[in-house]
Amino acid sequence: MTTVTDRLKREIAQALEFYANIGVERLPIQVLKEVEHLVPAAEPEQPTAPQVIGEPEPCEPETFKTNQRKLYELRSQMGNCQRCRLAAGRTTLVFGSGNPCADLMFIGEGPGREEDLKGLPFVGAAGDLLTRIINAMQFTRDEVYIANIVKCRPPQNRDPEPDEVDTCMSFLERQIEIIQPRALVLLGRVAAQSLLRVSTGITAMRGTFKDYKGIPAMVTYHPAYLLRNPKAKKTVWEDVQQVMKIFGKKALD
Ligand code: SF4
Repeated sequence: MTTVTDRLKREIAQALEFYANIGVERLPIQVLKEVEHLVPAAEPEQPTAPQVIGEPEPCEPETFKTNQRKLYELRSQMGNCQRCRLAAGRTTLVFGSGNPCADLMFIGEGPGREEDLKGLPFVGAAGDLLTRIINAMQFTRDEVYIANIVKCRPPQNRDPEPDEVDTCMSFLERQIEIIQPRALVLLGRVAAQSLLRVSTGITAMRGTFKDYKGIPAMVTYHPAYLLRNPKAKKTVWEDVQQVMKIFGKKALD
């Protein structure tokens, strides 16, 4: 039986043969437009939910120690990092904190004022809200790992510049390599665009799992945004429930 695709292929071949027969070697744009409607449009890529990974697994003491040592070595290599202009305005370099073999890792954009002073990621009001989100997901802050795209505070909390992100990114990539989380939550546009190397807006990205080197990465809003737009909390709760699902956790009624 002749399929629609076969018929389209034959029609395109006939159109191309016609132009070749009249001596046209390169097709002008108008001609390509004439045949383009014959080519079936590619199916848009459907995001797929990752398989259920199951309950977080306890870390072997040896693995815990090894990862802890590797993270410590990475921090030592960074030293008093001056690799980008953000070094000039920081008080403290904010490396990251949490479980060195966490199954779940949260990634934000960069330290804010309080983080810069305390040397820890996600402290202050946005940090409290993130802690509540983590707890609602039936994790504790000690069980997960939290880090940022850039480790030094951008002045006036501006977005980090692309060259600053590029310079700092290898540190985060190495943290992920060491920790080997089984899922990521990317908090906000800058975190998602920088790690996934895309320019898609947050509204289009959030709520679906993306792939980061084989690790499912859920994109959602940044807690600081939720402080300004409390109505979006419901959306974030829907997003993170998808993460809970892949860990076999059920939201409590
Ligand atoms: S933001 Fe990153 S690359 Fe820039 S100075 Fe801080 S640690 Fe170094």
